[in-house]
Amino acid sequence: MFSFEVAARSGAARAGLLATPHGRIETPAFMPVGTAGAVKAVTRAQLEEIGAQIVLANTYHLMLRPGDALVAEMGGLHGFTGWPGPFLTDSGGYQVFSLARLRTIDEDGVSFQSHLDGSPYRLTPERSMEVQTNLGADIVMAFDECPPATATREEVAAATERTTRWARRSREAHRRPDQWLFGIVQGGTELDLRERSAAEVTALGFPGHAIGGLAVGETKDDTWRVVGHVAPMLPEDKPRYLMGVGTPEDILDGVARGIDLFDFVLPTRNARNGQLFTSQGRLSIRNARFRADPLPPDPDCACYTCRTASRAYLRHLHLAGEMTAATLMTLHNLAFYLDTLRRVRQNILLGRFEEFRRGMLRALAASEAEAEGDA
Ligand SMILES: [Zn+2]
Repeated sequence: MFSFEVAARSGAARAGLLATPHGRIETPAFMPVGTAGAVKAVTRAQLEEIGAQIVLANTYHLMLRPGDALVAEMGGLHGFTGWPGPFLTDSGGYQVFSLARLRTIDEDGVSFQSHLDGSPYRLTPERSMEVQTNLGADIVMAFDECPPATATREEVAAATERTTRWARRSREAHRRPDQWLFGIVQGGTELDLRERSAAEVTALGFPGHAIGGLAVGETKDDTWRVVGHVAPMLPEDKPRYLMGVGTPEDILDGVARGIDLFDFVLPTRNARNGQLFTSQGRLSIRNARFRADPLPPDPDCACYTCRTASRAYLRHLHLAGEMTAATLMTLHNLAFYLDTLRRVRQNILLGRFEEFRRGMLRALAASEAEAEGDA
């Protein structure tokens, strides 16, 4: 039902195949974020057209609304949403620590109030597993504690130790053989805590591992120092997931350190705010220089948006508040991310990833400088 196989390596970068009950994922892969069971502004058919192979859904949001029991009654995320491919759900931990109100943590779990209406909830490793069982994703995550970047070393150490205990309880509470449960390594930016977390979590025998607790406000140097240190400690033959990262540049840097899976709200959220990711860098569609620009968002992109819409038209739709602006720009941004990952994978298979990475980083940096000069 499940398997993971590394087909080729180029430096530390890996090209793999991850098989799940709902289909295969070619890695490295980017997972579009479908927070509440939909990738905002796009339909299932559009996701299929751009070649999305897996969608991430958020446990926290779905347990609050419409409730995991209803999703289970409707056939789980697959039956409820109609998305035929693999899903991954997070544990709910990250959102509890970033969104929920009046949060209190104890050894057993976390009590909090919904950010929607203030109603009280409780998440424990066992409850997170129950919710994720009801949601029915192919890949589910152990319940972890994600401390903020401002936490003291003592706080990070306590959260890291608790994450190990919660990982053990998550594993014991996990029942469905048609779901793969991944463990999460925490430890903030403290390398010794990261090492300890990686040793303890990998010892529990999970079929895959995530590096959590990054991109929470630390510097980029710290992010890559930690990833570069932790990734080699994760088993070679199991998938590695860097949670909540990142920009196109970040994905190239993560792949270079042996990461296989990524997710981030950036391409979808920024599309709704008028920012396009292209092979020539970022474009802010509100910029007056696009007022009468007949070019597509990215002349090198073959997505529906780039085949049919000019920058001038997208700028008009965005400024007029037309919903179609969000749809067209989300489609392009996701198509750009997915296409970048396909090119990354091809170049790993050809054994020339590092060359590709340096070339793409150079192109993105040059055009960023140009765009800033323009603005
Ligand atoms: Zn496009």
